[in-house]
Amino acid sequence: MTLPQSETNGRGSDYPCPLCRHPAAQFYHRDKFRSYYQCVECALVFVPPEYHLSRQAEKAYYDLHENSAEDEGYRRFLSRCATPLLERLVAPSLGLDFGCGPAPVLAQILAQNGHTMATYDLYYQPDESVLSQYYDFIVTTEVVEHLGEPVSVLEVLWQRINPGGVLAIMTKLVASPERFANWHYIRDPTHIVFFSTQTFHWLAQHLGAQVTFLDSDVIFLNKPA
Ligand SMILES: [Zn+2]
Repeated sequence: MTLPQSETNGRGSDYPCPLCRHPAAQFYHRDKFRSYYQCVECALVFVPPEYHLSRQAEKAYYDLHENSAEDEGYRRFLSRCATPLLERLVAPSLGLDFGCGPAPVLAQILAQNGHTMATYDLYYQPDESVLSQYYDFIVTTEVVEHLGEPVSVLEVLWQRINPGGVLAIMTKLVASPERFANWHYIRDPTHIVFFSTQTFHWLAQHLGAQVTFLDSDVIFLNKPA
């Protein structure tokens, strides 16, 4: 049976939430390319797996949208995460830039400020040995919105942080269904999960973290000492 569009829109997702695993997600939005669902438990908005790009297509997309260390706008963008982070770190600390991309600009900025940086990227720096080390801090900028299994990745990163350390995340937050419909962030086909403040409160409780919102898209999860 084919449901009329209006009824299809009222249907829940066939998939559990990729963050909290709750089975109930409600229809949130549809555009020309994809459907979006929102978890009733943690408020994560996600696109079902059938809309996820293949690894090859995802890598090709990243190759086209490469950020460069010489790009002053990109450095300024990253400084919104780097500045509050540097204020709370005591040099020399040991950090990991997770999902650093082809040009690990944030790692460079932090290293220039006296910290020792490791880098990891699924496509550009795939040395997984760095994921078995422990760190005083981990930064992950413009990464979590790309994760098909965000909870698994975030749990691994959280385990790798020393007591008193911080997981610094940059991702743009869902504001409302109206803003979502016109949001440039959802036009990127590699963006498949969308967090909100409510989602980060859920995540903080799940991990046993203290959450701090430092900017509209800069979130720190602090590990108790
Ligand atoms: Zn959820």
